[in-house]
Amino acid sequence: MRCVDTHCHLQMPKFDEDRNEALERALDCLDWLVIVGDDLEGSQAACALTRERVYAVVGFHPYSAGELNDTTEEALRELTRNPRTVGIGEIGLDYYNEYTPRALQQPTFERQLALAVELQMPVVIHSRDAQEDTLAILRDYVIRLPSCIMHCFGGDAFFAEQCLDLGCHISFAGNVTYPKAEALRAAARVTPQERLLVETDAPYLAPQCHRGKRCEPSYVLHTLEFIAKLKDIDIDELGEQVTANACSVFNISSE
Ligand SMILES: [Zn+2]
Repeated sequence: MRCVDTHCHLQMPKFDEDRNEALERALDCLDWLVIVGDDLEGSQAACALTRERVYAVVGFHPYSAGELNDTTEEALRELTRNPRTVGIGEIGLDYYNEYTPRALQQPTFERQLALAVELQMPVVIHSRDAQEDTLAILRDYVIRLPSCIMHCFGGDAFFAEQCLDLGCHISFAGNVTYPKAEALRAAARVTPQERLLVETDAPYLAPQCHRGKRCEPSYVLHTLEFIAKLKDIDIDELGEQVTANACSVFNISSE
């Protein structure tokens, strides 16, 4: 069976004890995976981990919005020159944990969208409790971007439809498997399989069968299986499809 983890944070300290083992376990069962940065250091660490079948996405998470300036933008541009850097992210808006003020999150988000347009790279979007503003900002950029991924999708079917109308891909993480996540499951049902991706967001959000434990990239297979059942699609077929989608979104040809 084929599958990829389009979003994990293997660079984070939770993997300090067994990073290589977790990576090997993932590469044993997945075609490839993407390690996503959340600030400059995290993005540098993600790039440092790239190798065959291991890619990086670089950017400033809304939590780190205050850290983007001319100097750090130049450093970010440098990281995009790594041949295995495949996108800008995760970027966006987080009004749930307002660690940085909204007035700072918005220009930081836009500045990185503009960078992605300039470099013609896909973007990986984090949006939490900020649906309207995320859509309003994205609307100005999305047609100039090669592709746009709503990562760890956290909305309902209506928000999913709005994102799909904009041309986004929707990526589901382990939380779609949680008993109370009916709205997420409704979103997964309305997402056509050609626009669907799966991810772990490891070390966060382990799927229900591993809930409470640290999540790791190989667990993405549980999410794939869950969505295949939910949408009544053969798991091998969905695995092929999400892998093909991810290859096309990130412009990756199988190595
Ligand atoms: Zn993430």
